[in-house]
Amino acid sequence: MTDEHDMIRDEVRKLCAQYPDEYWRKLDAARKYPSEFVDALTKAGYLSVLIPEEFGGTGLGLSAAAAILQTIQEMGCNGAACHAQLYVMGTLLRHGSQQQKEKYLPGIAAGELRLQAFGVTEPTSGTDTTSIRTFARREGDEYVVNGQKVWTSRAEHSDLMILLARTTKKEEVEKKTDGISTFIVDMRKIPKEQMQIRPIRTMMNHNSTEIFFENMRIPADALIGEEGKGFRYILTGMNAERLLIASECVGDAKWFIKRATDYAKERKVFGRSIGENQGIQFPIAKSYASMRAAELMVNEGVRKYETGENCGEEANIAKMLAADASWEAANACIQTHGGFGFAEEYDVERKFRETRLYQVAPISTNLILSFIAEHVLGLPRSY
Ligand SMILES: Cc1cc2nc3c(=O)[nH]c(=O)nc-3n(C[C@H](O)[C@H](O)[C@H](O)COP(=O)(O)OP(=O)(O)OC[C@H]3O[C@@H](n4cnc5c(N)ncnc54)[C@H](O)[C@@H]3O)c2cc1C
Repeated sequence: MTDEHDMIRDEVRKLCAQYPDEYWRKLDAARKYPSEFVDALTKAGYLSVLIPEEFGGTGLGLSAAAAILQTIQEMGCNGAACHAQLYVMGTLLRHGSQQQKEKYLPGIAAGELRLQAFGVTEPTSGTDTTSIRTFARREGDEYVVNGQKVWTSRAEHSDLMILLARTTKKEEVEKKTDGISTFIVDMRKIPKEQMQIRPIRTMMNHNSTEIFFENMRIPADALIGEEGKGFRYILTGMNAERLLIASECVGDAKWFIKRATDYAKERKVFGRSIGENQGIQFPIAKSYASMRAAELMVNEGVRKYETGENCGEEANIAKMLAADASWEAANACIQTHGGFGFAEEYDVERKFRETRLYQVAPISTNLILSFIAEHVLGLPRSY
């Protein structure tokens, strides 16, 4: 981490300070999107840090994106409203054509276009991405898309969506990872009868949706890279996604640890602060140690990513350790607060619900353990 990152963190802290707990509490109760917060981040250029300067961005690396997202969480805000723009971007930057980059990147950098939706998961395939059924059939200079996605977060608050669809059936390909293609869909241009977006109400305010495609027509030039190679494009972006989510989890853990520590010092029971009891201190201290270990692994993963080394092991381990650390800190924090941890006005229960997601999404802990077992330790593939 450099002085530049410290400066970014300071500036992000100042911006986040304008969106205090009450702002998030109200949105959470109403399940509303934090438009003002996302607009402010966009205007300040934080959501386009990965876009090269020639397309209007600041051309900073993943470490800058990680610093931004971590600080947002550490300040008690919620980057889940807009983090996808940072981790989806890689697919367009690495595999998009010059024409696609010129068409979309300047608009995204200027804050006129939002790239916030990532349509991968489907109800019947779940974690088994190569079993997706959404199909894009080439017809002249268009593709006709039919199928369904689930958990496509922020689709109602995005102009563009990176969509994964089969272009050859699984039964007809030699390798199951072949025959899957990636598209950039301009959702503003799709008639309602071709694409229906339905919100899913969840335990936290996440603006997730399910999307139904019925003969959705998209231009052939919406295809990113080569037809049939899309699974590989998405995979290369996943390390970045895991590192950024891990960074957010470290931020969450820091928020919980700060709140727990502050409360433990001020709350008096039996005539003394509860923080004088080791029973209160130790879970907080333990979660601090977990957070620090996760933070080091995130930094190592980001370093390898930026120097072009294979960071698959670090990205996966960082995501698991950080999600575990934030969950451990969340538990310590709610326990430290006793009954008040459950009261909305203390914000602990809200953050507790929010951070729980990262044990499951974007990849669950079991699948990370499977990755480590198979790809790091050389054990047999278990699924
Ligand atoms: C709020 C929210 C937002 C999301 N946003 C997006 C989004 O924007 N875009 C998108 O594409 N997806 C999104 N997702 C989907 C998310 O990535 C998936 O939920 C996640 O990958 C798990 O898939 P699944 O829910 O189908 O679980 P399943 O695949 O059905 O798995 C269920 C459980 O079984 C376990 N399991 C499955 N297979 C194995 C195995 N072989 N070994 C051991 N355990 C196994 C899993 O670990 C999990 O715990 C979101 C999900 C949520 C809840």
